[in-house]
Amino acid sequence: MTDAQSSGQEQKNIWKVIKVVPENIDTYSLFLEGSDEKFARRRAGQFVSLSIMTPDGWSAPHPFSIAGAPEDSTLHLTIKKTGQFTSAIPDLKPGTEVRCMGPLGLFCQDIDAKPAIIMMAGGVGITPFLSVLRHFRNIKARNIVILFWVNRTMEDVFATDEIQGMTSDLNLRVIYCLSRADDVEGYYRQEYPGVFYEKGRLSGEILKRHGATKEASFYLCGPPPMMASALVEAGSLNVDQGLVEKETFAWQGKG
Ligand SMILES: Cc1cc2nc3c(=O)[nH]c(=O)nc-3n(C[C@H](O)[C@H](O)[C@H](O)COP(=O)(O)OP(=O)(O)OC[C@H]3O[C@@H](n4cnc5c(N)ncnc54)[C@H](O)[C@@H]3O)c2cc1C
Repeated sequence: MTDAQSSGQEQKNIWKVIKVVPENIDTYSLFLEGSDEKFARRRAGQFVSLSIMTPDGWSAPHPFSIAGAPEDSTLHLTIKKTGQFTSAIPDLKPGTEVRCMGPLGLFCQDIDAKPAIIMMAGGVGITPFLSVLRHFRNIKARNIVILFWVNRTMEDVFATDEIQGMTSDLNLRVIYCLSRADDVEGYYRQEYPGVFYEKGRLSGEILKRHGATKEASFYLCGPPPMMASALVEAGSLNVDQGLVEKETFAWQGKG
């Protein structure tokens, strides 16, 4: 590749920050605008490799699922502060240039065609599923979806109103599994009969109680310990662990 070609290629990967919106105490949505035609053909569940400018030049790229629908004209990422890179996200100002490589990944690639879907998310591992649900809402999908979202408390969740609304628009049931909640009864709202709350981590018992069966297509995303435990629990329903589609939110890189 010549220098001119490679600088053209780099230019293509440049996106501009539109805004950064706080979702909860340590999680932020980053909205980006750009004109890279590869992203116009993205699928729900894919991720980008994001670099930001630092005093030493472009940072190492970090992976983030696209939380917005593939039909959106902007890129919407939702990022939890875990270390140096992610802690810089809330300070990005509108107009700042960032670099996005992608779209990447195969997670959820055939999900549109699955009639019955079980989503198991841990913490910010909800992002690829938000993309799928936002896409399903856009295309008025009738797939049956049961979403189990594991968090410590309701303070860790986000997009709550939107997800509640989706239980009316879609064939969707949502179960918040709260590992550190003492009482969950107060969270129930009569107008959202498709939203449930469970104390404790995701268990085989909870999966079964809310209609998960081994005939459905299982998807799992989150940090490695949550994923390991959810796989064991799904196994207790005789789900073949090898058939569970997985995206691991682990990051081993530096910078
Ligand atoms: C395919 C893919 C998609 C991803 N999508 C998203 C997304 O949509 N939103 C998002 O917020 N993150 C996502 N991640 C995780 C994200 O890439 C990392 O959290 C981020 O790159 C860490 O960079 P950092 O420099 O801020 O933290 P580091 O300095 O690299 O890490 C800080 C500390 O946090 C730990 N750590 C790192 N990541 C996690 C994690 N996910 N959970 C728990 N502990 C962690 C590290 O072991 C370390 O101890 C995704 C990862 C992958 C592989």
